[in-house]
Amino acid sequence: MMRLPRFRYYAPRTIAEAVAIRSDAGPDGAYVAGGTDLYPNMKRRQQTPKVVVGLSRVRELAQAGERDGRLTLGAGLLLSDVEHDPRVRAAYPGLAHAVSEISTPPLRNMGTLGGNLLLDTRCNYYDQNYEWRQAIDFCMKKDGTICWVAPGSPKCLAVQSADTVPVLIAMGARALLVSRSGEREIAVEDLYRNDGIDYVTKRPDELLTEVLLPKPNGWRASYRKLRRRGAFDFPVLSVGAAVWREGETVTKARLVLGGVASAPVRLAAAETLLVGRKLDDESIAEAAVAAAGPSRPMDNTDFSFLWRKEMTSKFVRAALGDLV
Ligand SMILES: Cc1cc2nc3c(=O)[nH]c(=O)nc-3n(C[C@H](O)[C@H](O)[C@H](O)COP(=O)(O)OP(=O)(O)OC[C@H]3O[C@@H](n4cnc5c(N)ncnc54)[C@H](O)[C@@H]3O)c2cc1C
Ligand code: SF4
Repeated sequence: MMRLPRFRYYAPRTIAEAVAIRSDAGPDGAYVAGGTDLYPNMKRRQQTPKVVVGLSRVRELAQAGERDGRLTLGAGLLLSDVEHDPRVRAAYPGLAHAVSEISTPPLRNMGTLGGNLLLDTRCNYYDQNYEWRQAIDFCMKKDGTICWVAPGSPKCLAVQSADTVPVLIAMGARALLVSRSGEREIAVEDLYRNDGIDYVTKRPDELLTEVLLPKPNGWRASYRKLRRRGAFDFPVLSVGAAVWREGETVTKARLVLGGVASAPVRLAAAETLLVGRKLDDESIAEAAVAAAGPSRPMDNTDFSFLWRKEMTSKFVRAALGDLV
């Protein structure tokens, strides 16, 4: 049985208190929400914080509301709360569907929206217990120096694998970050960096408090996910798609891949191909072909990376087909 290492646990009740404790802890600290990602990582000694700041008692983080016509979702909302929220289901069905594809019902009753956005990147050489990783002399992401996926690579290529992220970026959602020095709102897209180790632009002391969804007018979004087992599995290729229309004409489109790099990948060429046209079999087929180019999965998750690349066009076609 894998045991957690020793650590000091704090259970603040307000955002201000949580931010202060985390800030004082410095590099030894970590936030934990549902713990469905952090605690297994701690058991495998991939993350070893000495101070853990629990967020589950911070009620302010578990609220949903409305501001300037935008739906605000607290980062501490359980995934199952987001999945079943009638406002999310009615106005943002693509997001509700993405959340419903995460893991299993018991884990969605524990895991939070914020924890999902900040999920650690994944790799077959890293998602292993300590002894397994020790046997291969570890890797650059933790305790080692080399990348076993691409030994010549100067950076870790572990994969962005959170289900909500591609569809939130496609929708143009924003994130609110709070620290002792104040708050800042950024596009969810700008939260990610293409580096498997340093994969978020959020400072370690910053608390993600809210995800802000855009007004639900004139656009629709969808999500498609490739995984081995339908019952539960992380995505090894995923597509978030959003299309804005006036009448039948597409005025804007956003297509985002997950599961193929350390950050989500925008498909700019495919997006451009859709604008000014009707969303039909012909425009979708052209966009789907253009989507395959920027999809460069590595050999570090389930399935052959060549097959995952090949599947990109099919999954983009399916995600756009959901929006016709
Ligand atoms: C068996 C299994 C299957 C899974 N399948 C999937 C899947 O299919 N798809 C998927 O996307 N995920 C999957 N997960 C991962 C995980 O359950 C979800 O991503 C979940 O949403 C994580 O949320 P959490 O609250 O438990 O995160 P935690 O473990 O509490 O935190 C995750 C990270 O986010 C940080 N963090 C959390 N909240 C905040 C905040 N408000 N501000 C700043 N930092 C914060 C933590 O410090 C930590 O680094 C799976 C996990 C398991 C164990
Ligand atoms: S991509 Fe390379 S460095 Fe990153 S976790 Fe995998 S083996 Fe380690």
